Amino acid sequence: MTSVSVIGFCKSYNSIKALDDVSFNVGKGELFGIIGPDGAGKTTLFRLLTTLLLPDSGSAMVEGIDVVKDYSAIRRIIGYMPGKFSLYQDLTVEENLNFFATVFNTTVKENYYLIEDIYKHIEPFRKRRAGKLSGGMKQKLALSCALIHKPEVLFLDEPTTGVDPVSRKEFWEMLLKLRKQGITIIVSTPYMDEAKLCDRIALMQNGKFLRIDTPDNITVSYPYRLWSVMCTDMHGLLADLRLCGHVRSSFSFGACYHVTMYAEVSADMLREYLVKKGYTDVQIIEISPTVEDCFMLMLREE
Ligand code: ADP
Repeated sequence: MTSVSVIGFCKSYNSIKALDDVSFNVGKGELFGIIGPDGAGKTTLFRLLTTLLLPDSGSAMVEGIDVVKDYSAIRRIIGYMPGKFSLYQDLTVEENLNFFATVFNTTVKENYYLIEDIYKHIEPFRKRRAGKLSGGMKQKLALSCALIHKPEVLFLDEPTTGVDPVSRKEFWEMLLKLRKQGITIIVSTPYMDEAKLCDRIALMQNGKFLRIDTPDNITVSYPYRLWSVMCTDMHGLLADLRLCGHVRSSFSFGACYHVTMYAEVSADMLREYLVKKGYTDVQIIEISPTVEDCFMLMLREE
């Protein structure tokens, strides 16, 4: 069953095409990720789907309700966590939560079971002002507030941006639990490592969806052999890789470089080239592509 369906969404700000003919469907209970760098159009898409902005053209339904024609009905059935911290900084943790429950005509007690796993992390700080919470705690409070009226669809715009790695991991564990409750979740992130936790992902760039698929299908379809290259002194290595006639592509990935080579080239030929250039301890290891590798390839082919 479909929870969210979007057909031909377009939105421009003067000459900037923030959304350029975006269409997709999200199934009920699906955890759907929108992956893309800054400026890709993720926030604009969320604002359209949460009825805060009108599209220039195109249409969308959330749980069978039209986002333009029936915006007030949509607002009752969705939870939205905007990218920027949305809570009242001067209210305490529990005041924020009570406020959001009251706005939606419910009580914290009624839906506590939904947020319990999340809220228990911040409950010891319930008297603390929201503005004084750490980044990870703020995100947990914002998620609790977005959930307290028991929405059918949850829109999370970059909920883990700027959050420390441990809190990011905890946050995703919470999303996976929420999905088990049948809530449809659409979440955006610039972190490619979070993509593999989604049921399906859309790779987004310049207002367009480049591809929508499961993370596995995306990585399995990577068309080349991929190598990780490291050596003792990496200074100048990327420039030399790019100059090398054997190398099709190379980019920085954590502490190493990810490299594809032309079909007839072997790892030994690349090693020989690098050793001749004076690099020592050259390690060239074949690896499995990640979503980020696939995204980089798609961007290059665009
Ligand atoms: P993302 O959330 O992926 O970073 P946004 O939807 O915020 O992307 O932005 C998409 C594009 O639209 C960017 O080029 C951004 O600069 C532009 N943009 C977003 N909001 C506005 C606005 N209110 N006025 C003008 N340009 C905007």
